[in-house]
Amino acid sequence: MMRVVITGASGRMGRMLVRAVAELDGTAELVGATERAGSEWLGSDVGELAGAGKLGVVLGDNLTAVPDADVLIDFTAPEASLMHARYAAGHGLGMVIGTTGHTPDELAELRDILSASPVVMAANFSVGVNLALQLIEQAAVVLGADYDAEIFEAHHKHKVDAPSGTALAMGRSLAAGRGVDLNDVAVYAREGITGAREAGNIGFSVMRAGSIVGEHKAMFVADEERIEINHIATDRMVFAKGAVRAAAWLGNQSAGWYGMDDVLGLK
Ligand code: NAD
Repeated sequence: MMRVVITGASGRMGRMLVRAVAELDGTAELVGATERAGSEWLGSDVGELAGAGKLGVVLGDNLTAVPDADVLIDFTAPEASLMHARYAAGHGLGMVIGTTGHTPDELAELRDILSASPVVMAANFSVGVNLALQLIEQAAVVLGADYDAEIFEAHHKHKVDAPSGTALAMGRSLAAGRGVDLNDVAVYAREGITGAREAGNIGFSVMRAGSIVGEHKAMFVADEERIEINHIATDRMVFAKGAVRAAAWLGNQSAGWYGMDDVLGLK
């Protein structure tokens, strides 16, 4: 039985994760859940908060008060994820990281802190998106840079980072298929007199509105045809189930930095 700790457990994803663990009867057990200091939900039963019924796990603000565990699942914010990584590394826990929006420096620090831990980090834990990432790489190989490549993403109005981690992962897959570095070809914004589109660039566009769970589309556009690889998430539970699946998988792995493609056997 995998003993799981969830950080940010009263957040949008945190509540889903609590439900996903509770519904995975016999595979995983929730032993602890935390939130930032000052949260209005501290002291609540996290099962009740998540709509999963009473679980007997109280939301706290300190990981050191949590009983022994095997895996920490973190869907919080970049700075908080670094703090949680230090705890995981120091206490021999594996870590599943869904938090997005890290700067390159924060990402390097995260990898450094967790260099001796088993870790699954993914910008998107849905099976469908991970399949789409592979299809995009394959399309980029076949179509080449003669097709203009654009990536579009849409999310709810509360999302704080852009483009989404998933859109960037799509960009990296596309760039890998073309044998180039995304940093050299990405165009993240267009405004005013931009000049004509440069061949080989990968453009990103972003929409934020309402309660959109997550939509991503990679487009390959030629003069005569357009290929679109489109993914629409309709319920956050898809990410939570994927993350809990990753946590269960992590229990049998040695130290290393893994992706959802490893968990799903897509590599
Ligand atoms: P949210 O704001 O609803 O939840 C984040 C929670 O983390 C909040 O409740 C916040 O109080 C808590 N938190 C912040 N600092 C903390 C700390 N130091 N200790 C404990 N808790 C702390 O946001 P969300 O929509 O749930 O998204 C969270 C993150 O997950 C974002 O980075 C988002 O982009 C990412 N996300 C990833 C995937 C994926 O599949 N990888 C899917 C959805 C969201």
